[in-house]
Amino acid sequence: MNIIYKRSFISVYSSMMYRMNTTIIETHDLVLLVDPGYLPSEIQALRHHIDEIRDSRPLYLLFTHSDFDHIAGYGAFTDAITIAGQAFAEQTDQEQAIRDVQLYDDEAYLDRPYELLYPPVDYVIREEGQTLHIGNTQLTFYIAHGHNPDGILTVVEPLGLLIAGDYASDIEFPFVYYSFPEYRETLNTMQRLVAGGSVRVMIPGHGSVTEKQAEMERRVKASLAYLDLAEAEAVSGSRQPFERFVERQGYRYSLSLTRRHENNIKLLRE
Ligand SMILES: [Zn+2]
Repeated sequence: MNIIYKRSFISVYSSMMYRMNTTIIETHDLVLLVDPGYLPSEIQALRHHIDEIRDSRPLYLLFTHSDFDHIAGYGAFTDAITIAGQAFAEQTDQEQAIRDVQLYDDEAYLDRPYELLYPPVDYVIREEGQTLHIGNTQLTFYIAHGHNPDGILTVVEPLGLLIAGDYASDIEFPFVYYSFPEYRETLNTMQRLVAGGSVRVMIPGHGSVTEKQAEMERRVKASLAYLDLAEAEAVSGSRQPFERFVERQGYRYSLSLTRRHENNIKLLRE
């Protein structure tokens, strides 16, 4: 796992798989782990690191959403106090979510030294803007559906940190597994949060961390532009705007992205 961002209270680790980000936030009050790794060796290293730094602080574990790569590490952190959205806790098909992890593990012949479990949720996010105070650390949550049906955004204060889940990445356009309108709503929420000026660091689920407000705005706008062009293509059938978009954005992993785009168009036509 590469460390891609380090400040006094925040460390972000990037997995060798999918460039998935794991965040560790350390304050006086807590250690907060977000989306704990993917490969077994990475998860083991995170576990060691957490045990070394934790002291007597409580360990919180936040899930941005239930996609297989984000929940695969849970079994190594069953002692943590878990946080996730209401849909994650109560609506998502837990067996199916774990089968997805198993499927990818089997394809890669991955052995995990812990049981695959769907995370039980101790602290459930039920309302837009719900807050959780732990000492002087404040977490505020926002519903973030669209990519999938059970995501949340989290703002951590006083650090000014926005944990974006699988939104506003610089290496991928929106993967819409669930709903275009709800995806748009999530982007609008992000736009509002960023425009408010209190977001100093934005951490996407995949790709690079940014401290620049202009870059945060650019990513949200690019995502909105993508939704527009996908909706237009679903009607017109013309792939050209998408190809120009991919070229302008300079995405690196273009073969897999084309397949994702085709899935998005399929969802729109249904
Ligand atoms: Zn993801």
